[in-house]
Amino acid sequence: MNYYSLNKKAPNVTFKEAVIKGLAPDKGLYFPATITPLPKTFFDNIEYLSYAEIGFEMIKQFVSFDIPSDILKNIVEETLSFDFPTVTLNKNISVIELFHGPTMAFKDVGARFMARCLGYFNQNNTNEVTVLVATSGDTGAAVANGFLGVKGVNVVILYPRGKVSEIQEKQLTTLGQNIHALEVEGTFDDCQAMVKSAFLDENLTSKMQLTSANSINVARWLPQMFYFMFAYKELHKTFNDIVFSVPSGNFGNVCAGMMAQQLGLPVHHFIASNNNNNVVTEYLKTQRYNPKPSIQTISNAMDVGDPSNFIRIQEIYKNTFHTLKENLSSFSFSDKETKAAILELYRLYHYVSDPHGSVGYLGSKAYLKSNPDAHCVFLETAHPTKFLDVVERVIKVKQALPRQIQAVMHKNKVTTMISNYTDFKTYLLK
Ligand SMILES: *Cc1c(COP(=O)(O)O)cnc(C)c1O
Repeated sequence: MNYYSLNKKAPNVTFKEAVIKGLAPDKGLYFPATITPLPKTFFDNIEYLSYAEIGFEMIKQFVSFDIPSDILKNIVEETLSFDFPTVTLNKNISVIELFHGPTMAFKDVGARFMARCLGYFNQNNTNEVTVLVATSGDTGAAVANGFLGVKGVNVVILYPRGKVSEIQEKQLTTLGQNIHALEVEGTFDDCQAMVKSAFLDENLTSKMQLTSANSINVARWLPQMFYFMFAYKELHKTFNDIVFSVPSGNFGNVCAGMMAQQLGLPVHHFIASNNNNNVVTEYLKTQRYNPKPSIQTISNAMDVGDPSNFIRIQEIYKNTFHTLKENLSSFSFSDKETKAAILELYRLYHYVSDPHGSVGYLGSKAYLKSNPDAHCVFLETAHPTKFLDVVERVIKVKQALPRQIQAVMHKNKVTTMISNYTDFKTYLLK
């Protein structure tokens, strides 16, 4: 499979090169040159396929030739070694839980897949690769966990000081080994900007092999297609018109759902559910794309002012506004509405949801107002105890900590403080 740069000013590359480079030399995101829908038999037999079989069938064309089939099968199987259950709340709303992995957010899937691919590409390589990752909370944790102990790979995580939850911070600052955490005096956007600057800094890139583990990296982004298919497998017999509501920040997740749609997943609509960072909600209303500085909210993993994957979504729908609108709705909700939704989910369904999933629930309800026959599946993207303060304060019920979280709570945080790009560069060159 070849990948081209969405800026169209860089040569095409293979999967392997796209994974190692992260971003194209012309600063464009990579996009697969072809997308071949899966055969009808795949959908006819989906009931009988395991997570790993579904994942392998979905990803193989995007990896082809760079990783032998048997190894790719193993990678997919190891990546998906936990559950993705669905819970139906009522005849119009279900939820798929993506938080049963080691760091309890959906990003485990992409991070584990990417780490294993890079580990494979790097196995006979004597040069180290440095993975740079900017995080608003969950990415860093998932990437740190996925890459822990991977030979020849160093991970440097940048996160905004005081803007991630206590549990998220523990998850990204306590691992040690090849994982390093930088605490940035600034916002998530500042972290993301520093990572971008590093990639463009020839002074750095001539000295070290840098790559990104954000959802701009195709190996992080594409495996996120899988769980849309898992939800379909569970629910399509009971419900006809399935629509996904995806709590969105950088729009990698919803965009992966759209790739699953390109593979033939019979879903004709997506809902991008946003917090007050609502660039895309506004775009769909006005056709004007106005990036803004991010605003801090209780669904912090979605505090993104200029979503990096939106350009891929436009590519999928051929840069045609009306096609995009046919396939995507977007709604935005305040923290106050989000808290009310956490309470409502608990009162009506005894379902404890995290703030991100709750925004997805609100998006489902908003869509159902004008599409009452749809069945909306919202993605519960993180375990509620990752946002313990908010959740316990709202529902007033103490939550037991899952074992994955208990395991990090008592560990000591180790970080380096930085406040600007010069600090960052000095750290990398050291
Ligand atoms: C990252 C994240 C999101 C947003 O996903 P994008 O792919 O950036 O749109 C939503 N919820 C949680 C819990 C996350 O960690």
